[in-house]
Amino acid sequence: SRDGRRTRLVILGATGSIGKSTLDIVRHHPDRFEVVALAAGRRAGELAALAREFNVRFAALAEAAAGEELDAALAGSGIANGAGPAALHDAALHPADIVVAGIVGAAGLAPTFAALQAGRTIALANKECLVCAGDLFMAEARRQGLSVLPMDSEHNAIFQVLESRNLAEVERVVLTASGGPFRQLSLDEMRHVSPAQALKHPNWDMGSRITIDSATLMNKGLEVIEASHLFPLAHDQLDVLVHPQSVIHGMVQYRDGSLLAQLGSPDMRTPIAHCLAWPHRLDLPVARLDLARLATLTFEAPDLTRFPALGLALDAMRAGGGAPAALNAADEEAVAAFLAGRIGFLDIAAVVADVLDALAASGDLAAPESVAAVLSLDSTARRAAQAAIIRRAR
Ligand code: NAD
Ligand code: MG
Repeated sequence: SRDGRRTRLVILGATGSIGKSTLDIVRHHPDRFEVVALAAGRRAGELAALAREFNVRFAALAEAAAGEELDAALAGSGIANGAGPAALHDAALHPADIVVAGIVGAAGLAPTFAALQAGRTIALANKECLVCAGDLFMAEARRQGLSVLPMDSEHNAIFQVLESRNLAEVERVVLTASGGPFRQLSLDEMRHVSPAQALKHPNWDMGSRITIDSATLMNKGLEVIEASHLFPLAHDQLDVLVHPQSVIHGMVQYRDGSLLAQLGSPDMRTPIAHCLAWPHRLDLPVARLDLARLATLTFEAPDLTRFPALGLALDAMRAGGGAPAALNAADEEAVAAFLAGRIGFLDIAAVVADVLDALAASGDLAAPESVAAVLSLDSTARRAAQAAIIRRAR
């Protein structure tokens, strides 16, 4: 703990997979951490239960219509609460040492950026902050001299093995990918997969959007863009390697040929705890790797033909400007449409490609110069995605 007192945490996205894993770490270390504010999307009952358990000072829901339900669920607790964008903003700005950015999607950008501007150290799970506004986000962090601590497991692995942070001595970094549930399917077989099949990730238990993105490999593409901001190397120094066991999470290849890797059970509590305690380590009851029992780790190159979403994301990274934000917005809409049964699995990447083509043609992919401009581009891309979804709907 800092100066003998507990580290104060704000958790944005408290009811989600990242939020729950973060709170589980706090349960194991109540003497080190104090949760001061929680925020979530719309689940009032769940948020209220967590707010009571951790006796927070403030709880916020993004969905204004759920405000009364939250207030009723917190009656008698003395916990201040609110709902709607202003309340979400207040939660993000509540005095704290670390803000855990665990909201899913571009919805996480405004509150996380506001916390950064207010001088908070950000523990970043919400990769969309960097995908959509990476230049703005990292420039603000540099201006303030603040660390952005990467919670995403691959980036956290690279952060752990980047000793002394000397990027000049790094030849390349490697992000591993499980390959998802359809790693061995042909394109034709993928055409007919259901949302339920796509939601069954082989190794990780995560929210629905990132789970579908792991099945298309869009997630790995978003993560390469995320890495390009966290670890500013040339684009061709950022590699993806399919590794179905998800035991090695990330690697750094140095100029002398050394390849350093971080290994661990696929449990997000390890990278989350690494950020919360950095530069120290916490005791954690996660499953230890039994390498003798595992016996074999395997690797393969990603197949951009069967997984076109990865190629689209890499193209968007190279194009820069507004392309990554448009890619993300289109993907969020396409994933929701797939989960709703409106389009097929292969249509997800097709919709994203349609949107990037349309916005390139209309001249809408210039680099956004503010977060407001990013959010406006995000809306434009979502409208284009809805049009593409209607065209491709079954
Ligand atoms: P999730 O769907 O499980 O949880 C999302 C959380 O965000 C919930 O608390 C939800 O209430 C909240 N939320 C949704 N919409 C919101 C809105 N408009 N405003 C405010 N809050 C809103 O998602 P997750 O799997 O926990 O992922 C969260 C983020 O972390 C994503 O950016 C994801 O890419 C990243 N991430 C997740 C994992 C993982 O293991 N789950 C791993 C690496 C990175
Ligand atoms: Mg990841």
